[in-house]
Amino acid sequence: MSLKTRIKTIDLINSKQSFEFNQSGNLDIKFGCNFTDAKNGIGYESNSKIEYNILTFNMSINFDYQAECGRCLSVDSFDSKNSRDFSLNLDAENDYELDLESEFIDFEPFISEMIIEKLELNYLCNTNCKGLCPDCGVNMNKNKCNHDEKKLKESPFSSLSQLDL
Ligand SMILES: [Zn+2]
Ligand SMILES: [Zn+2]
Repeated sequence: MSLKTRIKTIDLINSKQSFEFNQSGNLDIKFGCNFTDAKNGIGYESNSKIEYNILTFNMSINFDYQAECGRCLSVDSFDSKNSRDFSLNLDAENDYELDLESEFIDFEPFISEMIIEKLELNYLCNTNCKGLCPDCGVNMNKNKCNHDEKKLKESPFSSLSQLDL
């Protein structure tokens, strides 16, 4: 189920206390080698209010994501969390294009931002990852291929590899 991220602005304006809104679901995000998809869950807890045209809310998120190694393309799964307080003047221009006329306050851009903040653009499964063989594409962490050995023998250092050091 896709993540619900919208609250009616009028509900927030009319609410005397802060408005609790907790949801979980899926949200598609791609950032560098990282992605979330239908398999990955995102949950959040929020408390928000609008007072004197200022929207304030706190947001705590938990999320699962996958990252593809930049060298061997293997995919690993992770979970992470983040929390932040936001304060936004709805009377002034803001990055989220929200104002008092907006029908909904949509948390999606805030949640995306908080997820991306926790991701690394480039991911390596291991700093020593050997990557894929440029000739046959085999994952060299798991397999060796014959032409590698041939190349080794042809290399000027091949005599070294035959020594028992
Ligand atoms: Zn790798
Ligand atoms: Zn190969």
